[in-house]
Amino acid sequence: MISSQSPSARVDAPSLDVSVVAPIYNEVESVERLLEAIATVMDQTEFCYDIILVDDGSTDGTGDRLRELVEDYAQLKVILLRRNYGQTPAMAAGFQEAQGRVIVTLDGDLQNDPKDIPHLISILDEGYDLVSGWRKNRQDAALTRLLPSKIANWLIGRVTSVDLHDYGCSLKAYRREIVADMNLYGELHRFLPALAFIEGARIAEVPVTHHARQFGTSKYGLGRTFRVLMDLLTVFFLKKFLTRPMHVFGGLGILSMLSGVVLGGYLTGLKLVTGANIGDRPLLTLAILLLIAGVQLFSFGLLGELLMRTYHESQHRPIYRIREVLTQSPPNVSDNRSTVSTN
Ligand code: UDP
Ligand code: MG
Repeated sequence: MISSQSPSARVDAPSLDVSVVAPIYNEVESVERLLEAIATVMDQTEFCYDIILVDDGSTDGTGDRLRELVEDYAQLKVILLRRNYGQTPAMAAGFQEAQGRVIVTLDGDLQNDPKDIPHLISILDEGYDLVSGWRKNRQDAALTRLLPSKIANWLIGRVTSVDLHDYGCSLKAYRREIVADMNLYGELHRFLPALAFIEGARIAEVPVTHHARQFGTSKYGLGRTFRVLMDLLTVFFLKKFLTRPMHVFGGLGILSMLSGVVLGGYLTGLKLVTGANIGDRPLLTLAILLLIAGVQLFSFGLLGELLMRTYHESQHRPIYRIREVLTQSPPNVSDNRSTVSTN
């Protein structure tokens, strides 16, 4: 256990270099080892850091264990959620508290290895906004975990056009401003690279160590695959049309209405010219359906435009992200130039 007086361990929010965030749900056997492992690794670096463990409504005494541990570790901050919300909200709660210039996330079950953290940060400092871990030698069940995950990774890659091998790896390092820009819902934490990419982030991936679960059990089964697919649809929509919903719905709506008008016109013409009975023709039903669907799609587009404006304007979210602003430094402060750049 490390000493709470260690100078690098002082929690000094404004100058924090790194915040390490882990969501914890029923991991009572792991938390102390996890904490020790993170602190040991981080104490060997120059970084001023803190560790934020978010207890996601554990029922196995993890909360009480964390209550004790916070007395031993000056750099530890524990957030106890009122109930079990899920991994994404737990991570969002950690992000909210994290003050570090860099935020590192990892799982609380010791499957990720804190020894990889300094390497992730060094790659981040080469000029990336997000560095994602790749569990190259993943230690999970082949049929229920590795196979669905392989398919999901391929699909996510195709849909989001972010080219990573492993989206599900929790071990990641972010510049704080990237995380601050994002709101997380559902199980969107695994899509953080995709969401960050939408915001223009530069992303790298590095192989990391992965251990088999030593204690406790995985909190997920096959059901997650379905939820991930649904989240993927959301991300796809966000990526393509967040700021222009009318382009999808409006276009489809007009196409549908036009087809309805053409078919309806044809049937009306037929009736007027030949006097044929059109009342029982399936084509008539189709024409009416297309007209109604067209009006609805068009209205969705309009509603989407209104919602999108409310979304951006109520939160003062610009529809663009600035990486850097460059101006000529005044001559007497030109020495400060390097500190002005984004770091
Ligand atoms: N977790 C959480 N809330 C939940 C489920 C999981 O905070 O409702 C945490 C869990 O304690 C672990 C991490 O999320 O630290 C990943 O969960 P798990 O190890 O079960 O997922 P797997 O590694 O099997 O994908
Ligand atoms: Mg795990």
